[in-house]
Amino acid sequence: MSLKNKAPQLNKETSDIKSAQYVRGIGPKRFEALKRLGVESIRDLCYFFPARYEDRATIQKISAIEPDTEVTIQGKILSLDLRPVKKFTILEGLISDETETITAVWFNQPYLKNQLHEDDTVILSGRVEHFRDRIQLNVSEYEVANSNSNPTHVGRIIPIYPLTEGLLQRSLRQAMKEIVERHVSNEIVDFLPLEFKKAHHFPTLHEAVRCMHFPPDWPSLEHARRRIVYDEFLIFELLLLSSMTATQKKERGISLTLDPDLIAQFNSFLPFQLTSDQKNAITEISKDLTCERPMNRLLQGEVGTGKTVVAAFLLALTARSGYQAVFLAPTEILAEQHASRLKPLFDSLQIKNFILTGSAEDKQRMLVQTEAAKGTPGVFIGTHALLQDEIDFLRTGLVVIDEQHRFGVDQRTKLVSKNPRPHLLVMTATPIPRTLGLTLYGNFALTVVREQPKGRKPIKTFWIKREREEEVLEHIHKIISTEDAQAYILVPLIEESEFLDVQAATQEYEILTKGIFKNIPIGLLHGRLPKKEQEAVMSSFQEGKLKVLVTTSLIEVGVDNPKVAFMVIQNAERFGLSQLHQMRGRVGRGERESMCFLFGEPTSEEAKKRLRILTKTNDGFQIAEEDLILRGPGDFFGTRQSGLSLFKVANLAKDTDLLLIAREDAGQILEHDPNLIKPDHELLREEMKLRGHKVEL
Ligand code: ADP
Ligand code: MG
Repeated sequence: MSLKNKAPQLNKETSDIKSAQYVRGIGPKRFEALKRLGVESIRDLCYFFPARYEDRATIQKISAIEPDTEVTIQGKILSLDLRPVKKFTILEGLISDETETITAVWFNQPYLKNQLHEDDTVILSGRVEHFRDRIQLNVSEYEVANSNSNPTHVGRIIPIYPLTEGLLQRSLRQAMKEIVERHVSNEIVDFLPLEFKKAHHFPTLHEAVRCMHFPPDWPSLEHARRRIVYDEFLIFELLLLSSMTATQKKERGISLTLDPDLIAQFNSFLPFQLTSDQKNAITEISKDLTCERPMNRLLQGEVGTGKTVVAAFLLALTARSGYQAVFLAPTEILAEQHASRLKPLFDSLQIKNFILTGSAEDKQRMLVQTEAAKGTPGVFIGTHALLQDEIDFLRTGLVVIDEQHRFGVDQRTKLVSKNPRPHLLVMTATPIPRTLGLTLYGNFALTVVREQPKGRKPIKTFWIKREREEEVLEHIHKIISTEDAQAYILVPLIEESEFLDVQAATQEYEILTKGIFKNIPIGLLHGRLPKKEQEAVMSSFQEGKLKVLVTTSLIEVGVDNPKVAFMVIQNAERFGLSQLHQMRGRVGRGERESMCFLFGEPTSEEAKKRLRILTKTNDGFQIAEEDLILRGPGDFFGTRQSGLSLFKVANLAKDTDLLLIAREDAGQILEHDPNLIKPDHELLREEMKLRGHKVEL
């Protein structure tokens, strides 16, 4: 239930918001760069917090500094000397405090000769290095401190901001100083009712924001951070809880009927026995569907646990009850897979079934449009194409969304905001850690399928260093050229530059066709190929005509091919744990033991840890928890999970205590004032509008 519905007032307000380009030191060029980081208004700038901080507060005596350390010193410039050396310039200054002198050097900044002067008192930070037979300070930050008792770049805990092309740390920090000194108190209103500020011993919002940018010391920073985190949680919980009560009040649902013959007919069609988790899920969810209260349910289950069959039963139940059932998949490939696999089942149950994807022909689109509008009972499978305005379902009974985290939360709203309100089931293979679940799906009931179908063997995962890559490919080649097995070579997309990624995949494909795999059929699949070609490649691979598929991330979600026994993931160090786990889940679907090879040379400890975790466990829940701790929730779900865009500072893995406090406070506020109309809550309501217009729940 989106706050977008209340947009009119918002437009008026947004026009009052002052643009960041009028801050001294920003100007049009930096403004353009900031916009790429999502900063438009002065208010946004206030909330544009540092990515990290450096401690340059402790000023050391020159006589006490040691080589190979980072230090900050304060002293007088005795002399300055600019020297060209080969292709660059070196500015050398002799700096003295009351204990000792040292040479400070700046590389390639000749203009500083005019900004620094002999006799200036400066504060310098940098690395102490050996040079010939002496030590010198390689300056990374400097500041003239003649009469300045409040330095910006040195001599304090220094904010380090996230940057983009066109932004420099030093000038941005300078502008932020301006923000903190001149704008925070005008652009930000402390909206938190006094009682909560008191109860939790929070600083005022102005103090907290200033402190986040230029903290006087570490404890104050943590104190400020907790206030900001609490605010993020409180607003989120208020949005969530108020939308929940609003929906519960006005919504009438549909009570569907479970035809007793359906279960037997359904089972007799399946080539396998349902696992007991699948049976339980079916029973539990069917019960919801037969109640008049609209269902909100999350079906969570590891890759390969067979969620699709569960969905298929519920879709059939809905159609048999005379309603329309919508099954939404995030990619065309997946939608087509679902449609073609489920068609024989639905046909045999005499249930009409339709598919619609973006590349469908007009005739098919018209057909679906007509049947949808007529209210024809049946199952409608498709992609985003089903969400277009022209497609208007007259009698939706159930909406199932596969791989929910791939959709913006707003997209599900469209399908279910009807009266009576259809039941909603979202399915995900991303195991959602408890805190996150509580937050994001506060209004969802949960069904979990844990059991893997019988006969599945766990995937063996190996982390392969560069020198052994060839050996691994040779091994794969040997097996697939003699046995009935296939392989994926995944060159996954790294979102910023699809173009380069596609190039990388193409290159890999060419190297492999000419090299190790030259005598076996191998295919290339990526999003820039024409749709028809993608389909052709995909179906030759599914039919086994191609033995190897080199691909970007198209197969990351849901696609199922039991013959694939090997998966190679290139550049594995660049991906998050959950993503890698998802990719790996594309294999291990058949009877044969599957292997996943992570190719990668991580440099950071964190990346090494990720790869190590994957080689040790196949347990998606454990992986999700680790991932959340390693990366924080923003990356965990990707940026599309719009609710999470509210949490800029909060860390859901570490700030659980604040989340619980904020949730309780939000409940208390709404209990006494459900529409936030009391004068005490006016500012709170304004703040929800300001933050909430980007969010849908
Ligand atoms: P996911 O939960 O990842 O979406 P799928 O629904 O795609 O998993 O199922 C994976 C594979 O397992 C499919 O080929 C499906 O036919 C098969 N499958 C599902 N349930 C069972 C079962 N109870 N026994 C054997 N195979 C099953
Ligand atoms: Mg699936």
